[in-house]
Amino acid sequence: MIVRVAGHGGFRKRIMEMGFVRGVEVRSVQDSPMHDPVKYSIMGYDVSLRRSEAEMIEVLPHGEANRPLEGVGGTVCNSACEACALGDCSLRGRKALKKNEINVALVGNPNSGKTSLFNILSGSSEHVGNYSGVTVDAKLGRLTYRGYRINITDLPGTYSLSAYTPEEVYVRRHLYEAMPDVILNTVVASNLERNLYLTTELIDLNQRTVVALNMFDELQQSGSSLDYDSLGRMIGIPMVPTIAKSGYGIEPLLDTIIELFEGRNTASRHVHINYGSAMEEAIRRLSEEIRPSADLPRQFPVRYWALKLIEGDREVHKLLSNCGDLQSWEALASRLSQRVTAEVGSDIESLLGDYKYGFIDGALEETLKEGGHDVNRRSRRIDRLVANKWLGFPLFILIMWAMFWATFTLGGYPQEWIELAFGWLGETLWALLPEGALRDLVVNGIVSGVGSVAVFLPNILILYLFISLMEDSGYMARAAFIMDKLMHRMGLHGKSFIPLLMGFGCNVPAIMATRTIESRSSRLITILVTPFMSCSARLPVYLLLAGTFFPRHAATVLIGLYLLGILVAFLTAHLLRKTKFKKDETPFVMELPPYRMPTLRATVKHMWEKCSEYLRKIGTTILLATVVIWALSYYPRPKEEVAVENIVAQTESVVTAEPEEVALAHSAAAATQTEYVRHAESYIGHIGRFIEPVMKPLGLDWRAGVALLTSIPAKELVVSTMAVLYGGDDIASLSKNIVNHSGLTPRSAIAFMIFILLFFPCIGTLATIRSETGSNRWMWFTALYNTAVAWLLAWFAFLLGGLF
Ligand code: GDP
Ligand code: MG
Repeated sequence: MIVRVAGHGGFRKRIMEMGFVRGVEVRSVQDSPMHDPVKYSIMGYDVSLRRSEAEMIEVLPHGEANRPLEGVGGTVCNSACEACALGDCSLRGRKALKKNEINVALVGNPNSGKTSLFNILSGSSEHVGNYSGVTVDAKLGRLTYRGYRINITDLPGTYSLSAYTPEEVYVRRHLYEAMPDVILNTVVASNLERNLYLTTELIDLNQRTVVALNMFDELQQSGSSLDYDSLGRMIGIPMVPTIAKSGYGIEPLLDTIIELFEGRNTASRHVHINYGSAMEEAIRRLSEEIRPSADLPRQFPVRYWALKLIEGDREVHKLLSNCGDLQSWEALASRLSQRVTAEVGSDIESLLGDYKYGFIDGALEETLKEGGHDVNRRSRRIDRLVANKWLGFPLFILIMWAMFWATFTLGGYPQEWIELAFGWLGETLWALLPEGALRDLVVNGIVSGVGSVAVFLPNILILYLFISLMEDSGYMARAAFIMDKLMHRMGLHGKSFIPLLMGFGCNVPAIMATRTIESRSSRLITILVTPFMSCSARLPVYLLLAGTFFPRHAATVLIGLYLLGILVAFLTAHLLRKTKFKKDETPFVMELPPYRMPTLRATVKHMWEKCSEYLRKIGTTILLATVVIWALSYYPRPKEEVAVENIVAQTESVVTAEPEEVALAHSAAAATQTEYVRHAESYIGHIGRFIEPVMKPLGLDWRAGVALLTSIPAKELVVSTMAVLYGGDDIASLSKNIVNHSGLTPRSAIAFMIFILLFFPCIGTLATIRSETGSNRWMWFTALYNTAVAWLLAWFAFLLGGLF
């Protein structure tokens, strides 16, 4: 039984939200294969906690402790309530019925079925937007029901509404700024105690709220019975049982939303959760002080502002920054908070947590009859296998292997078809269009550039099928559980593993997959190091160069490159953790949700979302970049005479004495003459020459520079650029030309490959970094940092090569 939670700040708060409060029983359930983290059971659900964090929680063995807290309950607000009398409660009726439109915000714990509910509610809607921010992702859906247009926003999952995680801040800000008409709170019916914690925060906010008692099927299966009508009346929030998976309870839910909006619901009342006499007195004092202020935002009640000021909520400080008296309020609040702390003998946060859980317990005591059935039993049994000391890793590797095999091998077939389709399209257009800049733009620019990225669509779909299944079934949390110790050593999070692994396929979906990482800093670090995972587009370059210069050790070189990428990723993660993101504010308390059967609907929807996101990216960023690079390599048009002279000069300067070599070079040059010259004399050729001094120390000339530049839209383009610059119809002849005329040596080839491995990620990746981090800053950081690291390591390798 928990006696005390040590630590402070975000850690404590977070731990408490998850149910780790005084008097609660906690049991250790299972070790992870590497003995850290450990799975615990608390309040009827499972969490994983790192050992170092678990040490902060003081416990007594069962039987030695009695629940220290009792006799807390809620007071129902009646018209005699001070706040109501002063007009605070009228907040509910404040927004009059002005239109037939109801804005609903969907709030709830992670894995409470928000998205499932959202999908059912907005199932027929055509208008599903997708907004992504730093770690948060809100979706907007619409439906019409009984003459109302209902707009629903699916908000990120949170355990509370404090200011410690970006999701919490985001959700509260949304409630504050968007002022939804009705809050729809999803609650897992089979796990009420923990889930209702968030509901108590909504009670403090005093907004029109309805609780969807989701997963009601699980409650029934467990043999429990819940008098949800009485419970709803007690806490002043109507409750509707739902099963989001099957669509049960949706109509009554929508009816309740309309009732609330129209102010007809009888269960909806203003309830004050009683925080004990000392705290209540402090709230009353501060409320008196701030109520007269005209600056005070009216979105939330005065009592709420007072409560949060005493709590010292830093986000509320920002929300109230327009209030002239904020400083004096805060001074008073901190005095009051000290007084309460001294009087009660515990800090404000635990005090509030205790009373909140006390309130929930009190309400559940009268309404919930627990059945003997444990819903987690089946999950535990599965976990004993899946997270087993011996089986955990092999199973994990098997699943990962299956995922990659499907992605790259199975995905290879449709990939080929798309490739063929684009090839056909290019040829047809080449034949159809008149010769000139337009034809070149369309075929060599747009079709080949966009085509080279579009071919990855099937792989991305398959990858997302797996991710979506792993996520919805609950396996993702287990994968993180298994990998956490290893990843934590590197300054990452257990959940970072999957994006990093996916990075070997393509960095773009890998970065998108970091959305499952809740901790902001871990997510940012994962995003920033993912580009060091050598994506499949870089593979052809290695194959060409390693095959050319190290025919007997090509595989070793290849593995070495991949390992180097991983090493740089981990060193970078370490560096970022040591400097920019000192300590992860939030602990690794990760819920291990019960295994649940994923629904087809959710999976298909998920895949479609990713697919359309990717297509949109191709249609915008990648298209634009392709056109720019094309223009740079197409203009200015060369004058024919200069061109030929140039080509001769070039080949002669490269070629050594042997006559047949000269002949060969001439014929190769003639074959690709126009394109060769086009690159040499184009802007990109000039840029290549301009950056030549930078490439020189790596043993590379301007042509290598150009190849690097043209790889910016997509790294696959390096090989095709080299084919143009060095000449060669197939790999064998290209290889030969590279050995003979490129000026590359084994030493500089290594430097070149290292450079390709690490430098400037492709445009698609950069655009994804920008959209996922929500800032240009990290995009530029990645571009510059990665290029600098690439240059340094390539240079180092070149010098090292000189020693042998
Ligand atoms: P979110 O994290 O809150 O968005 O939750 P999701 O909508 O992703 O749901 C998590 C898991 O619970 C999914 O596997 C759903 O299929 C499952 N699920 C959702 N609603 C229900 C329900 O009413 N009953 C049961 N048994 N499972 C559900
Ligand atoms: Mg969701």
